[in-house]
Amino acid sequence: MQVTQSTKLANVCYEIRGPVLDEAMRLEAAGHRILKLNTGNPAAFGFDCPPAILEDMLRNLGGSHGYGDAKGLLSARRAVMSHYETKGIPLSVEDVYLGNGVSELIQMAMQALLDDGDEVLVPAPDYPLWTAAVSLSGGTAVHYRCDEQADWMPDLADIERKVTDRTKAIVIINPNNPTGAVYDDEMLRGLTGIARRHGLVVCSDEIYDKILYDGATHTPTAAIAPDLMVLTFNGMSKNYRVAGYRSGWMAVCGPKAHASSYIEGLTILANMRLCANMPAQHAIAAALQGRQSVEALVKPGGRLLEQRNAAYELLVDIPGVTCVKPKGALYLFPRLDPSVYKIKDDRQMVLDLLRAEKIMVVHGTGFNWHEPDHFRIVTLPGVADLTAAVTRIGRFLDGYGQH
Ligand code: PLP
Repeated sequence: MQVTQSTKLANVCYEIRGPVLDEAMRLEAAGHRILKLNTGNPAAFGFDCPPAILEDMLRNLGGSHGYGDAKGLLSARRAVMSHYETKGIPLSVEDVYLGNGVSELIQMAMQALLDDGDEVLVPAPDYPLWTAAVSLSGGTAVHYRCDEQADWMPDLADIERKVTDRTKAIVIINPNNPTGAVYDDEMLRGLTGIARRHGLVVCSDEIYDKILYDGATHTPTAAIAPDLMVLTFNGMSKNYRVAGYRSGWMAVCGPKAHASSYIEGLTILANMRLCANMPAQHAIAAALQGRQSVEALVKPGGRLLEQRNAAYELLVDIPGVTCVKPKGALYLFPRLDPSVYKIKDDRQMVLDLLRAEKIMVVHGTGFNWHEPDHFRIVTLPGVADLTAAVTRIGRFLDGYGQH
């Protein structure tokens, strides 16, 4: 008898590590050097663990071999609480959940919230874990349009049109992955206004909130809408460059008297997975209280800014390629002009690029973008590697899909 996957997985996709990566690994096993520009994993590109974080992890390693509190280490939750207090967002330690990365907390938040057929408004393009987590929880991700012509800002009218009586939540990814858009307060007021009018839970994924370029500033959604329940997600993977530690937090901000049943559900799920990785939880306080962050890398002369600039300039030099310059995060999401490149299947396009030039990027439809005319590239490699990569992408595109 065949062992088949459950039907729950029918609409669950995560293409960032999908079949294209399988092919990249096959090519690597055959002796090719592949430049993998698919994941936002700073350590893979020579970004070190900030020393104070490492020291804290090591100092606490010996005492971290037991299970801990299901919601997380008290000292770390206190650090998260104080961090949001400085941003004008009052919290209690009970409002903070620590997880094995934001990824685990996103899945818990959706599992606890959704019944079959419930809808969640998710941006398109999105970080695809959100759509996958909604689907796995029995819900339907209803994608709202972000408008490339308007620097990838969410189209508020489109969101409003898509609200139904099954809509339970809206997801905001700010700074955005894959587009790099950073929302100003007016946009956040527009988004939270929709949530307020329709009684939606707001899920605000702010994992790139310190990776900002060109003077962009970040406002936490919870600070804009203190009267709404805003689940705020953040963690150590990007700002502190320790993605492998698998450490993140979710803060349940705003009023919650009406949500005691939901919060009980979250607590059941937290209890079921016992606790998050203990050594990494110690690093949270060290990260939030110290000067371990990414600011030096994104200011003029900083490595991340230089790399974003180099990759952007080279990409937009390729005929038929345009790109909104990202104001935050670690990616570029360029567009291939459909009048120049007649691409029907963008996953096939990135597979062809991989085989021809040994460079792995992720196709735009992998981010729930509806047309096969974009791809995402990470801006984490050094300028020399990025220059070589984008030059090879240009060489590959020359003549590709033009007939
Ligand atoms: N949210 C966004 C927008 C991301 O880009 C990522 C990782 O790339 C995550 C969440 C997952 O982060 P973590 O490593 O904390 O699980």
